[in-house]
Amino acid sequence: MKIIIPVKRVLDPYTQARVNKQTQQVDLSNAKMAMNPFCEIAVEEALTLKEGGAATETIAVSIGTDKTVDTLRTALAMGVDRAIFIKTDSELDLQPLHVGKILANIIQREEAQLIIMGKQAVDNDNNQTGQILSGLLNYSLGTFISKFDLSSDSNSVEVSREIDSGIETRKLNLPAIVTVDLRLNEPRYASLPNIMKARSKPLETIELSSLGIDTSPRIKVVSVEESGTKDRASKQISSAEELFTELNQMGVL
Ligand code: AMP
Repeated sequence: MKIIIPVKRVLDPYTQARVNKQTQQVDLSNAKMAMNPFCEIAVEEALTLKEGGAATETIAVSIGTDKTVDTLRTALAMGVDRAIFIKTDSELDLQPLHVGKILANIIQREEAQLIIMGKQAVDNDNNQTGQILSGLLNYSLGTFISKFDLSSDSNSVEVSREIDSGIETRKLNLPAIVTVDLRLNEPRYASLPNIMKARSKPLETIELSSLGIDTSPRIKVVSVEESGTKDRASKQISSAEELFTELNQMGVL
C-alpha cells in the first residue's frame, strides 16, 4: 500500500507575521519558514505504518515555489521514501480547490490507497483541502483524527475523532483520506545521518503548468490586518500568589 503525504511549507508558527500593506498579503520576504506542524504529524503517522510493515512506500508531495524543496527534504530526512515537487511560478497561495485538484491528479497517477494530511495549514487556517480532495476522488474521509488503526487485511482503517460529546470512532474503507489532529502522535526530528541520506533520495519535479489544471482564483482576499498581539503588554508571573495579586490589582477578581 502506497501512502501519500501532502506537506505544506508555511511561515514558521513561532515567528510574528507581518503584512505588506501594498499587496495585502503576509510578507514572506526573509521570513523563517517551516513544515506545517500538522503535516509533520501526518509524516510521522505514515512512517510508523511503513516501519510496522503496513505500507510499501511513503511519498511526500508539496506544491509551491523552488524553496518548497526544503520542506520536501525535511520530509525525506524524517524518513519518507521519495518526494514529488509541484513547481509553481508565484509565491501566491493557491486556493484549496486548486491544491485539491493538483493532489487528486498526483494521487490518481500514483494509485495511492491512503492519504495522510494535516487538518489545516497554520498560515491560512483553511481546513478545506482534505475535504475537497475526498469529494474530487470519491475516497472515504476521516477528519481531525487523534487515533489511527489500520485493519490487519489493510482494507480499512479505524479512526478516532475528538468531538464535543467525546471520542467518536469511525471505520473507513480504503482508499481513504485522513486529516490529522495534534494529539495523534509526537513527530520525530530528523537525525544528522538521515539529513545527509535525504540528499540522495528521489525527488521528482513537475511543472504545475504541465498538469493543465485551472488555477484561476475563485476567492479574493479583500484585506489582511496584523493581529496586534505584539503591542499587547505582557508580564511573566512566577507563582499562583503573584498571579492572584496581579488579577486583584487589575480588578478582575
Ligand atoms: P488547508 O486546507 O489549506 O488548511 O490545508 C490542509 C492540508 O492540505 C495541509 O496540512 C496539507 O496537508 C495540505 N496542503 C495544503 N496546501 C498544500 C500545498 N501547497 N502543498 C501540499 N499540501 C498542501
